Amino acid sequence: MTSPGPSLGTPLSPHATRVLLLGSGELGKEVAIELQRLGAEVVAVDRYADAPAMQVAHRAHVVDMLDPAALRAVIDAERPDVVVPEIEAIATAVLADVEADGVRVVPTARATRLTMDREGIRRLAAEELGLPTSPYRFVDTLDDLRAAVAAVGMPCVVKPVMSSSGKGQSVIRDADDVAASWEYAQTGGRATATGDAGVRVIVEGFVDFDYEITLLTVRSAAGTTFCPPIGHVQEDGDYRESWQPQPMSDAALAAAQAVAARVTDALGGWGVFGVELFVVGDQVLFSEVSPRPHDTGLVTLVSQDLSQFALHARAVLGLPVPEPTRIGGADQQAAASCAVLAEGTGIPVFDGVGAALGVPTAQVRLFGKPRVEGGRRRVAVTLARGADVEEARARARESAAALAVRLA
Ligand code: AMP
Repeated sequence: MTSPGPSLGTPLSPHATRVLLLGSGELGKEVAIELQRLGAEVVAVDRYADAPAMQVAHRAHVVDMLDPAALRAVIDAERPDVVVPEIEAIATAVLADVEADGVRVVPTARATRLTMDREGIRRLAAEELGLPTSPYRFVDTLDDLRAAVAAVGMPCVVKPVMSSSGKGQSVIRDADDVAASWEYAQTGGRATATGDAGVRVIVEGFVDFDYEITLLTVRSAAGTTFCPPIGHVQEDGDYRESWQPQPMSDAALAAAQAVAARVTDALGGWGVFGVELFVVGDQVLFSEVSPRPHDTGLVTLVSQDLSQFALHARAVLGLPVPEPTRIGGADQQAAASCAVLAEGTGIPVFDGVGAALGVPTAQVRLFGKPRVEGGRRRVAVTLARGADVEEARARARESAAALAVRLA
């Protein structure tokens, strides 16, 4: 018999099951909606007001989550049962303290610390677990970068260890690129340099992969389950399109699941993990892992009966998670997502939503981001199904092309 699982309360009552979301972006918004469906009381936190998840939460707080005292204060005030980080930039020492006090941190405080920069997780995967990765070095100065590039070989990729979404990331193809790549990394990350050393970067051998995947891996009270592999394309280190299922050989899929199981078991806890892997033939290299839903996993909103957000909500509440079932009949074997970006400054206004929804099977999610403040920012996503990956991708792209974003 299936275990009865935990009791869940009623929001806004003394019997609430209270969840504190740290980070309130578009992924957190979908997690908040799924938690609400299970009757959780959802409190959303971010460093700016009116963030997407705040708009669907019971309460919201504007807090600098890298400030340990401010983070501790909001946790003490809200007394959550579960803390669900949605971003990496968090004072993770505070999470360790509250976990020691009996609050469930998703997936674990240690996992949030190890994945908050590229170094902790890379050393765990490659050096402790012995998983295959590209060759790499960590360096703090331009001189050390030159030596590391010589050791790793060209082409290679340079990334600030405290960075995501391709910020500060560049490829070195020629010795003449090294200085510019160093400078670019110094400005792109979250950290600022101290003393004589610069911002720490990782130098990785460039992997000439056949394709890259995100393997959504769910750890729950019922054990570990995998979603079908998600293929994606990135531009400037940020995702533009994803699709599911990515066709793979049985050997490559088995290798991918084995790597994902090893790394998620080492991190522990309950929740969804986005395991990013490079595939070359039947070989799989570990790249990185998010201990939370992944942006490329937005496609699961139309591909699975339980999206990655629904799976995460169930897992973090301590409920058992089954393998999701694919949505769609014989003529809808695949699904795809396409990111919609806005560039400039202002409040997003969407024209052509009707046309975007007129594409067969298409759905849209308009995130409700209050403002775009210079640069390119993802403000919406289009989703579609099709007979195969090509048709699903073509539909998602066509829908995205019909959606025109203005900044008012
Ligand atoms: P990351 O922020 O590490 O996920 O990198 C963003 C994207 O850059 C990846 O999804 C890849 O498309 C590309 N990339 C990162 N590292 C490498 C590498 N070592 N070799 C080839 N491509 C890479």
